[in-house]
Amino acid sequence: MAKLSLADLTDLRGKLVFMRVDYNVPLDDNGAITDDKRIKATLPSLDYLIKNGARIVLGSHLGRPKGKRDPKQSLRVVAARLAEVSGAPVNFADDCIGDKVQLLKTHLQPGQVLLLENLRFYAEEEKNDRGFAEQLAQGVDIYVNDAFGTAHRAHASTAALPEIIKARGGHAAAGFLMEKELRYLGSVLSNPARPMVCILGGAKVSDKIKVIENLLNIADVILIGGAMAYTFRKAQGFSVGKSLCEHDKLDLARSLLEKAKGKRFLLPVDQVQTTELKAGAPVRNTDGPSIEDGWEGVDIGPQTIELYSKEIAQAKTIVWNGPMGVFEIPDFAKGTFAIAKAVAEATQRGATSVIGGGDSAKAVKAAGVANQMSFISTGGGASLEFLEGKELPGVAALSDK
Ligand code: AMP
Repeated sequence: MAKLSLADLTDLRGKLVFMRVDYNVPLDDNGAITDDKRIKATLPSLDYLIKNGARIVLGSHLGRPKGKRDPKQSLRVVAARLAEVSGAPVNFADDCIGDKVQLLKTHLQPGQVLLLENLRFYAEEEKNDRGFAEQLAQGVDIYVNDAFGTAHRAHASTAALPEIIKARGGHAAAGFLMEKELRYLGSVLSNPARPMVCILGGAKVSDKIKVIENLLNIADVILIGGAMAYTFRKAQGFSVGKSLCEHDKLDLARSLLEKAKGKRFLLPVDQVQTTELKAGAPVRNTDGPSIEDGWEGVDIGPQTIELYSKEIAQAKTIVWNGPMGVFEIPDFAKGTFAIAKAVAEATQRGATSVIGGGDSAKAVKAAGVANQMSFISTGGGASLEFLEGKELPGVAALSDK
């Protein structure tokens, strides 16, 4: 069912709004922010709240402090950057619960912003602790979740807190970033323009079993790449040399191949292989799907690129999760980059392309075509669980429209 959107909330003046954001930004050794796109991604929701006179409390996690206060994982540095990019003054509370925080919340004026300290300084956050959520909820009228990247976690700030606000008769709405994620990921799964082509790669079959099973029911064509392909090829009796391969998952691979019978489930027909996983190591293409003894597969080969590119060129909907090879090393990135270009070209011709977060997002960025995709998800784990067909706890907890 469609979820309530921040745009549906018009009477915000003077209301205390708790917005869960994902300010889990990368920091360098000196604690400086190296990429602020997650901060910038929340600006549409934040601007809307400010313009409508809400009193705004922002809550986020940063890193994995595991329930302990750690100055290296403080959100203070984010408060400063947020003030810079939003142009609005941002107050910072050096805790996320307690009397002092409560006082700061009470004194917030319409349009003012208060960023709380790292929610994960309390172990109760990841335990979805009700008492902790009650404290976060103190004085809060409305809940907004704009943190898609943590929506697959049932934590106090994503699950218990919105439930508490709803139980009090308040609203729990999706922020604009969350809404965009749900719109793109939701529409490609529930009502895709056809043909729909799904490209799945990455390291392990076992990480993507449920995604493959779900997409087998939805997609017209599935293209497999990455090390995942070797587990399937090994299960079919081909040799994989010393490639990354889940030798203990061959039965699983066979059962997925069985489920894929009669469907267009394509495996690489050739590979790029090397003797060592490092730049400058000898590289050669295989002749067919098998990898030679003493060699390891690191990318899809030229015939596979051609075959997959043709499929992608026909597509009206494209979903991509997982690189085609070890794209972090330029010698082994050709397949991933060629597929990225094929997806970009199909998108320019009118196809809708949705890129799962994490490594796939990094790969299209490295290929230089990130701005030619229809949508790149901001959540790696969350987008994967969405593609599995699961309802995400952070989404389920929001009010229905
Ligand atoms: P995943 O998180 O499962 O999407 O996996 C992404 C990782 O898979 C990337 O870091 C790639 O370097 C790695 N990967 C892709 N293909 C291969 C391969 N043929 N051999 C080893 N690692 C691979």
